Amino acid sequence: MIPGKFDSRQTPCWQRELTRAISDPAELLQELDLDPALLPAAQAAAVRFSLRVPRGFVARMGKGDPNDPLLRQILPLHAELEEVPGFDADPVGDWAARAAPGVLHKYHGRALLLVTGACAVHCRYCFRREFPYAEARASTDPWQSALAYLRNDSSLREVILSGGDPLSLSDRRLDALLVELDRIPHLQRLRIHSRQPIVLPERVNDGLLAVLARTRLQRVLVVHANHPQEIDQTVCVALRRLAEAGVTLLNQAVLLRGVNDSASVLASLSEALFTAGVLPYYLHLLDRVRGAAHFEVKESEASAIMKALRQRLPGYLVPRLVRELPGHLAKTPV
Ligand SMILES: *Cc1c(COP(=O)(O)O)cnc(C)c1O
Ligand code: SF4
Repeated sequence: MIPGKFDSRQTPCWQRELTRAISDPAELLQELDLDPALLPAAQAAAVRFSLRVPRGFVARMGKGDPNDPLLRQILPLHAELEEVPGFDADPVGDWAARAAPGVLHKYHGRALLLVTGACAVHCRYCFRREFPYAEARASTDPWQSALAYLRNDSSLREVILSGGDPLSLSDRRLDALLVELDRIPHLQRLRIHSRQPIVLPERVNDGLLAVLARTRLQRVLVVHANHPQEIDQTVCVALRRLAEAGVTLLNQAVLLRGVNDSASVLASLSEALFTAGVLPYYLHLLDRVRGAAHFEVKESEASAIMKALRQRLPGYLVPRLVRELPGHLAKTPV
């Protein structure tokens, strides 16, 4: 291969890993030596929101531990099927914030593009688990109406690629989109919100780095890790390559019951991230989406955790605790 070029005829290794991702609850339980009694509930909950997890992420889980913090994020549970008042299909008002097909424009100067509904992993707490991507996303007319919206609003400085996971796009499609964004003169920054460098570090390959090197826009990548055990050596290498390519790296996490609801876990997370070249950005209170109530940490408890965290870490390693409220002009600090 010529450096800086990518060969679109070959199936990259990350795409093979995507197709090999585990989607059968029985296989997951077997892989992790877990009690088969967990199976009926997992199958029932997976009907509403399917199981999906790359094998490399499963390899970071402890065997035989139903409470493993990585497993909890992806294993379908019976609790998801319980109706809990206050937990709805669209808790953050995204459907109302659609500015054009595939564009969410809620905040000044930045618009968010839903470029795909696909993710490498299905996170059980995800607020988009109920989101009607097929109707909302921009991909049906290769982004033309979304791009027209961005062109016509000269107050925009930043475009955020989101989804789903925007790095689910092939290098070729991503490149084509970035070429269009480059041509919009008022845009200065490209931000990508992706969990793939964490759950599928193979995604950070020469092809992706070449695509990111071509844009004139300043590049920010916001990854999503919730627990230090997610940051293994392969993830570290992927993140360092991105940092060396001049990409500013930030992390957003969600405060999750049974995963990272303690100051000591969050402190280790911040330190593991910084070792890999990533600064903590946001710690989100759970969006109250249907099926995720069992993950909720109350606001008072969250504030106590933050207080303890501030006492343990330098200020730059403390994420901002925020909540997203429909109709607000920014994320709301807690
Ligand atoms: C979270 C979000 C953003 C980004 O907000 P920042 O505070 O800049 O990180 C932008 N648009 C939408 C629709 C969002 O939900
Ligand atoms: S990767 Fe992000 S968008 Fe996809 S399911 Fe997980 S939290 Fe949701």
